[in-house]
Amino acid sequence: AKENGKNDCMLYSDSWSNSSFERLKLQHEMYRAIQRHEFVLHYQPQYDLKSGIMVGVEALVRWNHPVRGLLAPGSFIPLAEESGMIVQIGDWVLEEACRQNKEWQDAGLAKIPVSVNLSIRQFLQHDLASRIAEVLETTGLEPKYLDLEITESMTIDVGHITRCLLEITNLGVGISVDDFGTGYSSFHYLKNFPIDRLKIDRSFVRDIQQDPSDAEIVAAIIAMAHNLNIQVIAEGVETEEQMEFLKKHRCDEMQGFFCSPPVSSDNIEQMLKAG
Ligand code: C2E
Ligand code: CA
Ligand code: CA
Ligand code: CA
Repeated sequence: AKENGKNDCMLYSDSWSNSSFERLKLQHEMYRAIQRHEFVLHYQPQYDLKSGIMVGVEALVRWNHPVRGLLAPGSFIPLAEESGMIVQIGDWVLEEACRQNKEWQDAGLAKIPVSVNLSIRQFLQHDLASRIAEVLETTGLEPKYLDLEITESMTIDVGHITRCLLEITNLGVGISVDDFGTGYSSFHYLKNFPIDRLKIDRSFVRDIQQDPSDAEIVAAIIAMAHNLNIQVIAEGVETEEQMEFLKKHRCDEMQGFFCSPPVSSDNIEQMLKAG
């Protein structure tokens, strides 16, 4: 499964986005991009560390820009957050990811959850949980095959977020904390929110071999999460040594270039078929 993914997007240089004219232009183009079907989802496999089986995929948006080519999210998501367009884009991502996952299941492929990244802006919408319920209804995807990734920047209105997360988990949808350890409120999250899984940020994984304190932190996060009945996935795993370390410390799952970069939906289909 490792040879897939050479077709992933070229990371577009950010230099143009510094010009305010270019930013304005891009923002304008973004409005038309949904109607024109220019957004596409790539998927990065998530593997069970013990068995090596693919147990999930994360949906990652790309923008197939008519002139600039395939754009990575880093070059337009910040702008989309700023302008509010992230709400429409995020809504499209949610529906497309659920639709695609149901299609894989209907084709008889292994049933695995799809993870979708949620922006804080989507949380501030009052009807998020009912929108999620509606998407599950229209696509026919069972709630347990959807997982939502939230980040620690989302603690702006704790009361609202808590209510919203409870509504979502009551639907039967999973919640993962993304980029765990990079925010100011990691422990607050674990204590107060109904979390199923945390994703150890790749900045900790990167230096596991070189930096003894990163190794200690990763081992401690895994042990603590397990004591709280929370699953752990490590992101950004790029080497066999990192994988072995995570295995040794009983991390549950991994995601990273070592196994596979994000790939097209066709590639995922082939990987699922190959078993
Ligand atoms: P993220 O949620 O932390 O997603 C993981 C990012 O790390 C992806 O970048 C992925 O390609 C990259 N990655 C995966 N494995 C490795 C590895 O082994 N090494 C390294 N160096 N990188 C790895 P990508 O696809 O460029 O996405 C960047 C960010 O854009 C995401 O970070 C997420 O915050 C945001 N994003 C992507 N899709 C969406 C979306 O649909 N909605 C929202 N709100 N944000 C999104
Ligand atoms: Ca994520
Ligand atoms: Ca992440
Ligand atoms: Ca990140």
